[in-house]
Amino acid sequence: MSPSEARQELMDRRRRLESVIEAGMAVPQIEHLLREVDSALERVEVGSYGRCETCGDPIEPERLAADPLTRFCLDHLSRDEARALEQDLQLAGRVQQGLLPPRLLVHQGWEIAYEYRPLGPVSGDYCDIVSPPAGDGALLVLFGDVSGKGVAASMLMAHLHATARTLAGLDLPLPQVLDRANRVFCESTMESHYATLVCARLSPSGRVELSNAGHCPPLLLRSGQATPLQAHGVPIGLFCIEEFRVETIDLEPGDALVLYTDGITESINENGVPYGEERLAQMLAGWLDQSSTELVAGCMAHARAFRGRTQRADDETVMVIRRLAS
Ligand SMILES: [Zn+2]
Repeated sequence: MSPSEARQELMDRRRRLESVIEAGMAVPQIEHLLREVDSALERVEVGSYGRCETCGDPIEPERLAADPLTRFCLDHLSRDEARALEQDLQLAGRVQQGLLPPRLLVHQGWEIAYEYRPLGPVSGDYCDIVSPPAGDGALLVLFGDVSGKGVAASMLMAHLHATARTLAGLDLPLPQVLDRANRVFCESTMESHYATLVCARLSPSGRVELSNAGHCPPLLLRSGQATPLQAHGVPIGLFCIEEFRVETIDLEPGDALVLYTDGITESINENGVPYGEERLAQMLAGWLDQSSTELVAGCMAHARAFRGRTQRADDETVMVIRRLAS
């Protein structure tokens, strides 16, 4: 914001405050707000507007745009401001947790469990399960990862969640779900923002239709083997026109699909070695007849043990979709 734009914005605020006072409305703290605006106008005149009062560095432009009266950079927030920001983040985290499906779902011979571990208060990982409106149709599972981390990623995640929920209600073939989600995402986000996404439709018969837009390959657990199912598409939000293919697999009782985000496979140990998809597959290959909850906990624990004392660096999510014995 240039000094003249800042002056304009602040004068606008001043006029609005004055009109409230003139109208005789009882607004608490209005005099205080007026003084704050005047003090900001003074800072514009002396050329210190938009600079942190502690370190003198420029205040983050997006924060200044959201609150033109801000006086400190993120590193030098007052205790009250820091507390307010912390509370905002905690609240955003709770809102995001509220978007998640039940931790364990048993439906039509399917057992689905997952663990969702954000790195901070919010996450860019995405998982959802949409139950059929009629009760006897197919379950729709959505699992993915939005580019970036933190608050911006969590907002994109919420956007993807809303888009996918809307599309899920239309009962479209899977490639069309991905195609439409891709268009919505393409048209409404910035270039560097994209999401990897696995869409799976689980039929009561045990049939799984799977489409993967650039996400880590799901692992198929069958007879003590863990086989990666390679992605067929690029992430959504990169190109406005993409073609998504569908793979069909019939799951037998005891078979399972393991979905995970790259926070698991890109975990680094103390020697700088990444955990990797193969290590996860090898670990899972030995596991027979475990419940989906046990498998999820096993994956999380194995990656954590591998990492050792190295700090976690990304959001982590694991989901297991298991076919129960009928
Ligand atoms: Zn500062």
